[in-house]
Amino acid sequence: DPDTGLDPLEFSVTRNLAAKSAADRDAILASPGFGQSFTDHMVDICWSVRGGWHRPRVSPYGPISLDPAAAVLHYGQEIFEGIKAYRHADGSVHTFRPDQNGRRLQRSARRLALPELPVPYFLQSLRELIAVDGAWVPSGEDQSLYLRPFMFAKEAFLGVRPAHKVAYYLIASPAGAYFKGGVQPVSIWLSEDYSRAGKGGTGAAKTGGNYAASLLPQSEAYENECDQVVFLDQDRNVEELGGMNVVFVYKDGTIVTPQSDSILEGITRDSLLQLARDRGHHVEGRNVSLTEWREGVASGDIVEVFACGTAAVVTPIGILKGRDFIDEQPSGTLALELREELTNIQYGRAEDKHGWLYRL
Ligand code: PMP
Repeated sequence: DPDTGLDPLEFSVTRNLAAKSAADRDAILASPGFGQSFTDHMVDICWSVRGGWHRPRVSPYGPISLDPAAAVLHYGQEIFEGIKAYRHADGSVHTFRPDQNGRRLQRSARRLALPELPVPYFLQSLRELIAVDGAWVPSGEDQSLYLRPFMFAKEAFLGVRPAHKVAYYLIASPAGAYFKGGVQPVSIWLSEDYSRAGKGGTGAAKTGGNYAASLLPQSEAYENECDQVVFLDQDRNVEELGGMNVVFVYKDGTIVTPQSDSILEGITRDSLLQLARDRGHHVEGRNVSLTEWREGVASGDIVEVFACGTAAVVTPIGILKGRDFIDEQPSGTLALELREELTNIQYGRAEDKHGWLYRL
């Protein structure tokens, strides 16, 4: 690699002799759902204090054997990423800004005291998997192959310290259109009793514990007939949803999104905000209090509120519901225009003027 001086890894490849037939695969790709079926292969790379990154492999997808004392099972030393591969009309397969996911995985690793996988190895792992499982990238509208890189402490040791042995894996799962029959606004439950992250905590890292902590508030959202939950910080500033960032559009065209050390920095958000800047919008990353949100909607200063992330891309927020209020949210057109612009780039239907696509 010209930037780091790293040589590419030499992956061993063991083909899956029980790989799905083309007919079975096509049946799955016809209606993939989300996260339910997996491709025929997986990638893994070992890391140890002594050996660094070693034994890169492509092997048949299947169960992992783990010592019951593996540190991840006890102390949750784990991180992950989420990224999609898109099939273009000419058959080629591309991911979107994978260098950003590789760098975010490194930031997560730092926070969780895990080793940082060099970005060139991260990118190579994506290419290796697509080289054997490329046929699993669907070609239907709004379909993709969801790639899930993850890393965990596998050392068998019941002490609380960073593990000396770690595994990096990559698996993939075909994903259908998130919204069947068009994008629907979502209803959001305001979590008052639970927070997702705190100052100095792990909120900015993509680590399993953050998602474990969101499950109970998410079930509270369902009990209150809401689709998703929004979290506040200790000063009652808006943070994010369980798995998506939040963006506010103001009457004068200004776009505001919460910025803090305890929010996951979404790559979808960053990209949408760049497209908005390209259109001349002024973009601000700053604190947004719950009061500013509610009063802005009431006064008409806020004209649109939406959530964004890799899985659903963009979803307008239709309702904010708290213990003692229901605020209907204004509906605008910007969220869906930006969504269209972004997905046109991702699927190769528009010029990639920022150089965001990465051919696998
Ligand atoms: N916040 C959280 C908590 C998330 O899990 C995600 C999904 N990765 C996002 C925001 C959006 O990030 P991205 O746009 O990179 O998918």
